[in-house]
Order: sequence, then structure tokens, then C-alpha cells
Amino acid sequence: MSAAGEVVYLDNNATTKVAPEVLEEMLPYFSEKYGNPSSMHDFGGQVAKKLNEARERVAALLGADPTEIVFTSCGTESDNHALRGTLESYPEKRHLVTTRVEHPAVRSLCQYLGRRGHDVTELPVDSDGLLNEDEFGASVHEGTALASIMWANNETGVMFPVERLAEIAHEKGVVFHTDAVQVVGKVPLDLRHGAIDLLSLSGHKLHAAKGVGVLYIRRGTRIRPLLIGGHQERERRGGTENVASIIGLGKACELARQTIEEERTRVKELRDKLQRELLARAPDARVNGHLEQRLPNTLSISFEYVEGEAILLMLSRLGICASSGSACTSGSLEPSHVLRAMGVPFSAAHGSIRFSLSRYTTEAEVDYAIEHVPQVVKRLREISPFGRGATDRDARMEYGRGSAPPGGGS
Ligand code: PLP
Repeated sequence: MSAAGEVVYLDNNATTKVAPEVLEEMLPYFSEKYGNPSSMHDFGGQVAKKLNEARERVAALLGADPTEIVFTSCGTESDNHALRGTLESYPEKRHLVTTRVEHPAVRSLCQYLGRRGHDVTELPVDSDGLLNEDEFGASVHEGTALASIMWANNETGVMFPVERLAEIAHEKGVVFHTDAVQVVGKVPLDLRHGAIDLLSLSGHKLHAAKGVGVLYIRRGTRIRPLLIGGHQERERRGGTENVASIIGLGKACELARQTIEEERTRVKELRDKLQRELLARAPDARVNGHLEQRLPNTLSISFEYVEGEAILLMLSRLGICASSGSACTSGSLEPSHVLRAMGVPFSAAHGSIRFSLSRYTTEAEVDYAIEHVPQVVKRLREISPFGRGATDRDARMEYGRGSAPPGGGS
């Protein structure tokens, strides 16, 4: 634990704390107000009203119309709905475009679709993690059903210009989806005048509960449901709603809207301080991803000649929670697909740590990390099996090449 005996939680891209105001708003819907929003009686009707309020709050954060909001069970479901639902609506179009750095919720699905006979283009990124817009433009054509490009990368925080990419897609008559799971609540968005047709978000990344998400469906977008059943969500997603979590998500969106401008500046200053101090105090360290086109809360940093997992374990003993590449890929010896796509050398990719802050992160926590992370890196380098001066080849020999990561990656 930290000096204060508390966890220093710098892993907010993996998941966030439920805001106390969110929990408070959720609790009555487990006990006193447990009606089914589809019921005819007033007891259920009261819940339906509250669901609609949540829909309005989510829509307000996105600059959307409440009728464009479909509640789902998570970001992964929203992504699956977007991709599978669109492909089903355009059976004559077999092509889809995505990137090499998507979260597994999109990437593994695209690979699966590729095995099922779809033609998938996975666009590369450069060493800053950025996409080439012309390459994107050249990849979409009349045979393309859908382009799915994440708004912000969960590992590096690098942001793609999805609003412009959506316009390019529209010029070719291609539906545009963005996985915005990491961006919603961190950066202000306004979908009203843009060309994005479909957008996924997940509650647990913005201080709501786990197990609730949203698929934004722009009015008029052709898309089939993923879950076929009852009439819920205007027949776009069958199944009794996760009422309490949806209500909590509504509150989380309202809180995000109220604090987003102030917090993005405060959090960015803290992230920049962490970055500056770690680079100054730990030799042979580098930041992964474009320094400007990046989420304000995310820092992916590589420490050469050390194993990221070892850093994480030692930090964990000190009460510091961070992540190496992607939380759920920890335990696999394969470096992150995102860093590999950016051409980060093997030795640096292995020593990569992601710190991600939130509106609950304090300066004292950042200072604690600044004090301890360089010491941990130094200690590990002293006992490293290949130490400074080892080559990339040595690193590869040392770690071998594992198979696909077992987890989901967050
Ligand atoms: N997309 C991105 C970019 C993510 O970071 C995550 C979770 O880490 C997901 C999708 C999946 O969201 P969920 O955990 O709600 O399924």
C-alpha cells in the first residue's frame, strides 16, 4: 500500500471507480423501485420514466437525440452490434475496414469475420500510432459495408480524427462506426453535425457500473439488432434492461458533462507532470504514441531493459495500480499488438507501462508514483537477465514468442 495506506489507482483505462453520486442514484432501483419498465402498471412506469431520463442524459453528453441511444450490456456488445448488425443489413457488401490497433472487442471480431468469408482491411499506423487519412480514403469503396475505427486507443491514448474519417466514408456510401469507449467522458464530443453513424461506449470507463454500455445509432442508419427478443429499446435490443446500471450511467454522463472541461485540463497537467518527471528520473525511457493527439489522461511509457510485468508486480506491492500494455494481456509473453503495430522495438515494448488517470486522481498520488516508479525500474535493471545493452534479438530469445493473448485487453 502507499504511504497513506491506500491504493494509488492509475489504471483508469482498465476500469474506473463508480462515482458516489452514481451509486446513490442506482441503489433504490435494486430494492424499493424494482419494477419492470415494460410493465403496464405505474410501479413499472416510474422506472421507465427514469430510464428515459438516463437516455436523455447520455444523449446530452454525446450531442445526440435520446432516440439514438440504445442501452447494451458493455462496450464489447455495442461493438458486436455495430459490426454484425451492419453487415447483416448490407449482405451484398463483404468488405470492412478497421485498424491494426483496435481493442480485441473489434479486432478479434474482425478476424473472426475474416475467417467467415468477409474481406477485412486492417490499416497500419505509423510510429506515433497515427493513421494515414489518404490510406483510409483509398481503402473504402462501394463494396465496403462498414469502417470501424476507434476514437482513442486504450493503450496509448492516441486519438484518430474519426469525424473526418466518417466524412470520407460517407462520400463512398460507407457506414462509419467508432469504438469511443476510451474517449467518452474524457473529451467533449458533439455528434449532432458530424457523419459518425454508430458509436460504442462503456459505463465502467466513466465512473458508472460494469456491465452497461451504449450503442449510439444515428437516426436513419440501417442496422439489424444483435439480440432479438422483446420490444425493448425500440426493438433494437431485446432483453429486460439493466435498470440500475443504466440509471447510474445516466448520472455518470451528467457528472461528466458538468466537469469535463475543467477536469481534462487538470488531469492533463497531472499526466504531463508524471510524464516529465519519469522521463527525467528514469534513463532509457520513451513515451509511446503521439504527444499531442492523445487523451489527456493516458501515458504509455517504455522502460528499456526491464520487463513490464515485473515493474507492475513491484508497483503493486507499493500500492500503485497500473497496467502493462493492456490489462488483460498481462500474463502473456507477447508484447501488445498496439505497440508492435507502431514498430516499437521488442525490448521497449516489453518494458511498457500504461498509467491512466481520472477525475479522482490527486497530485499526491502522482507524486507518489514519481517517487517510486524510477526506483523500481532502477532496481529491476540491476537484476535484469539481459540488462542494458542487450539487443532486441536477446529480448526475443529471452521471452520467446507466445500465442494470442488469453484475455480481453482493456
Ligand atoms: N473498446 C475499448 C477501446 C476498450 O478499452 C474496452 C475495454 O477496455 C472495450 C472496447 C470493451 O468494453 P467492455 O469492457 O465494456 O466490454
